[in-house]
Parts: sequence; C-alpha cells; structure tokens
Amino acid sequence: MNANDKQAVKDIVGAENYSDSLIDLVTYSYDASDHDHRPEAAAWPTTTDQVAAILRLANASRFPVTPRGAGTSLAGGVVPAQGGLVLDLVRMNRILAVNIVDRQVVVEPGVVYADLQKLLAPQGFCFPPDPASGKVCTIGGNVATNAGGIRGAKYGVTRDYVLALEVVLPDGRVTRTGSRCMKSVSGFDLTRLFVGSEGVLGVITEITLKISPKPLASRTCQASFATLDQAGRAVTAIMHSGVVPSVLEIMDQNTIRVLREKGGMDLPPVNAMLLVETDGYTAGEADYQMDRVLEIFRQGGAQTIDMAQSADQVEALWAARRKAGSTAGQLRPYNLSEDVTVPMSQLPALLTGIAGIVEGYGLPFVVFGHAGDGNLHPKIMYDRRDPEQVTNVHKAADEIFALTCSLGGTLTGEHGVGLAKAPYMHLEHDANALELMRSIKRLLDPNNILNPGKMNLDV
Ligand SMILES: Cc1cc2nc3c(=O)[nH]c(=O)nc-3n(C[C@H](O)[C@H](O)[C@H](O)COP(=O)(O)OP(=O)(O)OC[C@H]3O[C@@H](n4cnc5c(N)ncnc54)[C@H](O)[C@@H]3O)c2cc1C
Repeated sequence: MNANDKQAVKDIVGAENYSDSLIDLVTYSYDASDHDHRPEAAAWPTTTDQVAAILRLANASRFPVTPRGAGTSLAGGVVPAQGGLVLDLVRMNRILAVNIVDRQVVVEPGVVYADLQKLLAPQGFCFPPDPASGKVCTIGGNVATNAGGIRGAKYGVTRDYVLALEVVLPDGRVTRTGSRCMKSVSGFDLTRLFVGSEGVLGVITEITLKISPKPLASRTCQASFATLDQAGRAVTAIMHSGVVPSVLEIMDQNTIRVLREKGGMDLPPVNAMLLVETDGYTAGEADYQMDRVLEIFRQGGAQTIDMAQSADQVEALWAARRKAGSTAGQLRPYNLSEDVTVPMSQLPALLTGIAGIVEGYGLPFVVFGHAGDGNLHPKIMYDRRDPEQVTNVHKAADEIFALTCSLGGTLTGEHGVGLAKAPYMHLEHDANALELMRSIKRLLDPNNILNPGKMNLDV
C-alpha cells in the first residue's frame, strides 16, 4: 500500500477507524495459530458502504485485504500473508432484528457469539453451534469458517443455521443471498458457497440466522475405560442405540495423564475417558437417553461411571475436558493443534494411528475431541527454537493428514484451511474439484485481492 492508498482508506472510514501504528500492525500479524505476517494498515469499517468502497479501492490499487473477526483462527486464516490491509469487522456489531415468530435473528458480522446467546437465552432460544471460543469469536468469523462445536453431533454446525447473507464481493458489488424463509430451493445455493469460504470470496456484512428453542433439561456423565478399544466400542454401541447425545467427548491416555500430573486433577489412571451429555425438553427425555448410555457403559466394562447430580458436579465433570488443551500446552512453548475428522466408524483407527505417528517423533502429544461427530484434536507440543523439533512436528502433521484422508476423513472439521492446511488440500480434493474452487475464486476475485495465500487457491 502506498501513502495515497492509506490516506484513501482513512478518508473512507474516518481517522478514528484507521491505524498504521506499529503496535496495531504487530498485533494484527497474528491469530491463534503459529503463523504470522505483518499488514501495512488496519481499518475498522462501520457500514457495508465503507466495506464496498475499500474493496473497490483495493481492486483499483491492487492491495490485499484480509477480513478479520476476533482473530481466533487456529489455521492462520486472518494472518495477512501478503501484507496490505486488515479489515477488522468488530465495530459492525449490531443485532439488527430478533424475530421469534419467524425463528430468526439478523446480525452484523462483528457480534460476539456469547453476546447473541445472552440476548436469546431469556427468550428460551439459542444459536446452537457453540464453538469453544464462543466468549470472544464473532458470528462473521463463525459463518466464514462454518464453525462447529461441542454439540455438533446433535445440533450440527453454523452452515445448518444460515438462512441469508449480505456479502460485499471483492470488486465492491453488494449482493444478497438466500431468503428469510425456512425453505427455499430457488437458484444455486450461494449462501452455502460463502459459508466456510474463509474470507476469500467476499466480506460478509449481514447474517440472517435460524435460531432454536433451547433444551430445558440435560444429564451429564463421565466414564473411564481400561483401554481405548473399550471406549471406542462404547461409542459404537451408543451410535447403534439410537440415542443422539448432545455431547460425546473422548480423552486419550496422554490427556488424562497430563491432567493428573500437570493439572492436579483427580482422575483415574486409565487409558480413555468419555464425557456424555443427553438433553431434551423434559427431564424424562434426558433421563431416558442417559439410562441407555449408562447401560452401555456398564455392559462395556467401564471402570468408573460418574453421574452428575447437581450443577456443581456437572461443572466438575466438564473441568477435565475444558482444561485438556491449556494444560497440555504447558508441556512445551508451542503446539500444533489440529482438527482432523473421520466417519465415526474410523475413530479408533485414527486414534491409534495418530499415537503411532507422533510417538515415532518423540514429541509430547495429547488427543481429545468430539467422538460424537468423528472430530479429533491431536495437539503436539514442541519448541520452535529447536529446528529438529520443528521438522518433526511438520513430518508428524504430514502423516496425520495423509492417514486422515486415507480413512475417508477431512483435513479440518471446524478450524478451516487458512494457511495451515493449504499445502494439504490435494490430499482431500481431486484435481477437478481444486480447479473448480480456483475458477470460482478467479471469477469473483480476478485480481486476487481478498485474503490471498489461503486455501491453496492462488494459481
Ligand atoms: C481456544 C479456541 C477454541 C476454539 N474452539 C473452536 C471450536 O470449538 N469450534 C470451531 O469451529 N472453532 C474453534 N476455534 C477456532 C475459531 O474460534 C473459529 O474458527 C471462529 O469461528 C473464528 O471466529 P473469529 O471471529 O475469531 O474469526 P477470525 O479468526 O477473525 O477469522 C476466521 C476466518 O474468517 C474470515 N472472516 C472473519 N470475518 C469475516 C467476515 N465478516 N467476512 C468474510 N470473512 C470473514 C477471516 O478472513 C478468516 O479467514 C477455536 C479457537 C480457539 C483459539
């Protein structure tokens, strides 16, 4: 960006919504991944018109623009890989409409996930995806990454709730996709094209979301198993039983050991644990499902079964799973945290495969994740100052992605491709699919100004 470009951006958004101070540029070099690159300026647009004007300018002057929400991407999605302007949407944070009769809300992209939940809860409704970063991440970021969460197995992911969007295309044209109807099969599904497009096809400036009545009752239980195989069989039995738990989380032996030794948690010295929640609109519904789960655990040889009897006990059972990532992170200064996903029947193969791969490189690692939808989080701890550890962590990642795809899985169940998984796209998508994605990118963004360098689309 030259001085004229910077001045033009400042004129569009106003001096109070523009910065090229070193402290802001350094801050905007990062997200929650271990990638970084410094932008040349940052702007906080407050209207769709401002976003459109900036993108028209960027096309005329050919500088890169990286849309950004809260910057919690774990994939380098908001790292401005080729410099240019960071377009931070957090000041477009109004909730524009709540319409309970139509079961929908209309929001600007910078609304924080938790703030929307707080507004909906007293009315008995929610927007269910529930990403673990919900206290800070934005709805715009959720839509752009198709975020999921701990309740995905029962309630799906962001995509399942997006009815309509307002999008500013890379050349500055503003378009509306979808409709406010619960059903619509009119034309191509452009809404779905933009959901999960990670800021490379357009800037999302307004979102119409379907909302759901909040379940009123839930039951929570944790079970431990002597072997991973037993836990895997319990998961399979739950799938066969017809029960759809709202939460079904798994922790491997390394996670349990780290939580015991580093986190000081009172957990049994076992090789696998499952955390299960069932829910419903009546206590009877939640109980009926949990009774079936408990029966499966007993028959499956669970070593311990802890059933929460109070809200405090629910919190106590959740504590281990919630602290798993941060406690393991203490083992080394850096970590690689992935979100590979396979069909549920392949979970045991993925779990044992990941262990075999990472043990071979001698790095500490843990695996936990959402057994209910086949999404695992292998987290490998390493020290970036040691070149051998860096090489090894990348070799381990290469093998984990290859294994996942060979099991019919996907590189990313929720974090997105960004920079982190761009080199692996060919493992999952055939040459024709990749070329189709690149053609769509070229069609909408011929000058490649919007979030360049991401998703392996820059050819
Ligand atoms: C501790 C932690 C826990 C997490 N847990 C989960 C989890 O459970 N489930 C999950 O899915 N993810 C999780 N994540 C990843 C991350 O929080 C999600 O991807 C989230 O949806 C990103 O929201 P954000 O507002 O931070 O977006 P950002 O990180 O700012 O942006 C993410 C991507 O979206 C694009 N983008 C953002 N806003 C717009 C917009 N308005 N228009 C176009 N593109 C845009 C960006 O360019 C970027 O590519 C976690 C991250 C952390 C750090």
